[in-house]
Amino acid sequence: MVKLITKLQKRWLSLPIKWRGTAIIAIPVSCLLIVLLAFSWLKFHIIEDEAWVQHTQNVRLETKQLLNALLDAETGVRGYGLTQRDEFLERYHHAKSRIPRVLDTLQDLVQDNAEQSEYLEDVRFYIDENIANFEKKIILQQELIRIRGQNDTLVPIESLYDWLAKGQETMNQARQAIDIFAENEEKLLIERIQHRDEYRQLTWIFLCFSGVISAIATMFTIHLFSNLEKELSQRQINLKVTNQRLENVCDQLQRFTANASHELRAPLAAVLSNAQVALLELDDVDEIPPSLHRRLENIVKTTKQMSSLVSDLLFLARHEGLLAPESIQKVNVNQLLLAIASEWITPLKSQSLELITNLPLTPVWVLADRSLLKQVITNLLSNASRYTPPGGIIKINLHNSEKYAIFEVEDSGIGIAAEALPHVFERFYRADLKRSKASGGWGLGLAIAQQIVEAHGGEISVVSTLNEGTKFTIKLPRIH
Ligand code: ATP
Ligand code: MG
Repeated sequence: MVKLITKLQKRWLSLPIKWRGTAIIAIPVSCLLIVLLAFSWLKFHIIEDEAWVQHTQNVRLETKQLLNALLDAETGVRGYGLTQRDEFLERYHHAKSRIPRVLDTLQDLVQDNAEQSEYLEDVRFYIDENIANFEKKIILQQELIRIRGQNDTLVPIESLYDWLAKGQETMNQARQAIDIFAENEEKLLIERIQHRDEYRQLTWIFLCFSGVISAIATMFTIHLFSNLEKELSQRQINLKVTNQRLENVCDQLQRFTANASHELRAPLAAVLSNAQVALLELDDVDEIPPSLHRRLENIVKTTKQMSSLVSDLLFLARHEGLLAPESIQKVNVNQLLLAIASEWITPLKSQSLELITNLPLTPVWVLADRSLLKQVITNLLSNASRYTPPGGIIKINLHNSEKYAIFEVEDSGIGIAAEALPHVFERFYRADLKRSKASGGWGLGLAIAQQIVEAHGGEISVVSTLNEGTKFTIKLPRIH
């Protein structure tokens, strides 16, 4: 048993939290549903039984009325026979008119019960016989009075005894039939009351039982829920600790990159300046091997590339998601783009590239670090110039929307392959390694651009078609 419980516990803990949570909620909900369904079922039966009991009571009542009406009719006939007074006749007629109505009501009430319907047929038969008998007696009585012509003379008592005795028998038969009918209904009533009481008892037992089960289920649910909560809070703590560790590692890495880049700058600058000075000095020497000149030039070129890499790394490490608040200012994007375009127009021309600017007339303002924003555009323009063959066109567009300043750098260059497109913003990613290396790129320009744009709360995206061109779009929140 203990083994089974441990096994179940293990299985439970191995389930995903989503499933466990659902199961925990499902326990009380299903308990409630089962209780409601069972309770409704019991209630329905009790109501049904109650209706049957009521129905039987109605049948009994109507049976009593039938018997009363019959007795009234008999009394009326008897009284008339003895006294010839019309009030007895009236009583008879009144009772007689009630009988068919009561019989019809009873017929309606017991129509679902074949046995009772049969008994009622007997009752109807004997009552009809009685009524026929009563009628006969009244006619006889009236005939007697007419023959004698003496309305005020009473019929001799002795002559009435005979037909009173005759009527007694049919009357007893009718009563017996009514009694059988009534007894049968009584039995039904007892059965139905018993049935109803059984269901009432069952309901009570069920209510107590479901109360106990619900209490156990609630306690069990609370237990599971508190366990889950503990587990979740433990996980949260673990997550926080891991997060903190990761942050520390990231910080360390960032600091290391920043320090290493910083430390590398000075020796690189020394190498560069020494190599440049050596080159200058070589110019004054007459006989020098040409390879020496080439080697020194290679040193200068490589050192320059290294310096640019170190500067980029330092930049990325220093500006990781942060902007210096004092450097944030209102920047007129139209002016900024025009200034950058004027700087770039000549170098691009020397590469046989045309630069076109499409700027709106109304100024577009953003809150930004002006020099960083300039760096973004510069990086994009440098890429466009690097990856667009001579004769190509480079465009700088600025659009104005209600919420954003949207600017684009578009070129008609070599384009980027679809599979490379999702990676171009990754650090050190170069879509065309040969070309980038040849042009001295490290694959950091777009990573820097993205970091700057996101630090400003904006977005940068790219669309490109191979051999047709590339368009970078920057979206920054604008101010009015
Ligand atoms: P760096 O900018 O560090 O000097 P890079 O230009 O190679 O080097 P990114 O600017 O980050 O690096 O660009 C990443 C890669 O995306 C490039 O190597 C290039 O393959 C591709 N790329 C970027 N801009 C364009 C463009 N306008 N046209 C075609 N390819 C581009
Ligand atoms: Mg670049």
